[in-house]
Amino acid sequence: LQAHGTRLRDSRGEKIGALIVLNDVTRLRRLENLRRDFVANVSHELKTPITAIKGAAETLEDGALDEPAGARRFVAMIAKQADRLHAIIDDLLSLSRIEQGSEREGIPLTSQALRPVLEAAIQDCALAAADKGLAIDLFCPSELHSRINAPLLEQAVVNLLTNAIKYSPERGTVAVDAALEEGRLLIRVQDRGCGIAAAHLPRLFERFYRVDRARSRNLGGTGLGLAIVKHIASAHDGEVLVQSTVGAGSTFTIVLPQEGKDSGDRQTSP
Ligand code: ADP
Repeated sequence: LQAHGTRLRDSRGEKIGALIVLNDVTRLRRLENLRRDFVANVSHELKTPITAIKGAAETLEDGALDEPAGARRFVAMIAKQADRLHAIIDDLLSLSRIEQGSEREGIPLTSQALRPVLEAAIQDCALAAADKGLAIDLFCPSELHSRINAPLLEQAVVNLLTNAIKYSPERGTVAVDAALEEGRLLIRVQDRGCGIAAAHLPRLFERFYRVDRARSRNLGGTGLGLAIVKHIASAHDGEVLVQSTVGAGSTFTIVLPQEGKDSGDRQTSP
């Protein structure tokens, strides 16, 4: 609490009381701390690939250029780190776009069938799945409709699928299914991969939180995928949940409120 006080006096200057204004600044402080942590984290995340690029360029300058095999390796390293910077910046821009959209007039939602959105997400991940010999099963009744922002929901499912593929063993299976339960629409992405220890679950959706930093980086992760999923779920007035068992796999569930059919579409004003 922050307090400001003033003594109150009458016209002859006699003390007649005091006025104390109490401001609850805890929330403001917390927001300010979050912002500061975020800037520090972003800077750190950007610095890592930049340092690697600089190191590779210096090694090339110092003579590696004259040796074709070595030179190719360092050039490939520079390209990989540049891709990494690109991915981080893309994810940061996505996050800020979703945040801005939700804060202003809300993201536009229209009532539409869910199955094509899930099919598109699976299609987006088909190559990555094929590379690991993974099959992605889909179960979604075609009559399921919901008020959604299709491109954003597709992005959320792609992020969950990308993780499910990354953290699954070769030739495993990943399942996507959607169902109505107690008036809510559940979209589940389930893998039989390495799983996540319970201690990590509460922080999993924070920006840049990773269970295994080195592994995530090696797999091309930005540490922002799940934060984006969480933002997209909130922009739909929904949430995202996780259940996981180490060694057995993980299930991420996007839960969307299912309103009456006649609730109308939410459109942004022009
Ligand atoms: P990243 O880009 O590192 O994958 P995410 O925000 O998508 O970042 O995920 C955060 C962390 O959660 C990952 O680094 C990983 O440790 C863990 N994780 C996410 N999805 C899964 C999954 N399906 N199986 C195991 N671990 C996962």
